[in-house]
Amino acid sequence: MKIRLASTLQPDSIVDGEGIRTVIWTQGCPHHCPFCHNPQTHDFNAGELVDIDEIKKEIKALKGQDGITLSGGDPMAQPLECLELAKYAHELGMNVWCYTGYLYEDVLKNKKMKSLLEEVDVLVDGKFKIEEFSLDLYYKGSRNQRVIDVKSSLEHGEVVLIEKYKGTKIFKNMYKKDEGMFI
Ligand code: SF4
Repeated sequence: MKIRLASTLQPDSIVDGEGIRTVIWTQGCPHHCPFCHNPQTHDFNAGELVDIDEIKKEIKALKGQDGITLSGGDPMAQPLECLELAKYAHELGMNVWCYTGYLYEDVLKNKKMKSLLEEVDVLVDGKFKIEEFSLDLYYKGSRNQRVIDVKSSLEHGEVVLIEKYKGTKIFKNMYKKDEGMFI
């Protein structure tokens, strides 16, 4: 089985979920959110088809990673391919985060997407909305998006947000006034 990726794996990310993570950038997204950070990942014919067994080898060789993050693009556009990778990450003891432009409720209605959801630990859902954009949010770009505890949500039959990621970050101490930039 092959998956269409936008780039090579990106290890050591600290912004795409909790801990140190390897990001798998999928290629292809149907949502076309205005001001998307990764517009080059929208085209379903761009990027490169990569053998999933090759990606598994790369994941197995990783050191010091807490988990993988499925991002893109929209991983839910390649649900069965991403499911393979999510299962493998779990076999290796890594956790799985997934970003999608779909809402959790919509994912549940699609059999293939739901099968991927069931192998995901944390889902960050919803389209990016520039009018709700903030730099102070945990692991998401706009306030409408949700950082969802998937296992708990499936058990309770409703969306359960991860408490510690509901609020906003305080950037004050990280702002270097003299340099006018974030560190
Ligand atoms: S869902 Fe994500 S990748 Fe797709 S257009 Fe929106 S922000 Fe961009």
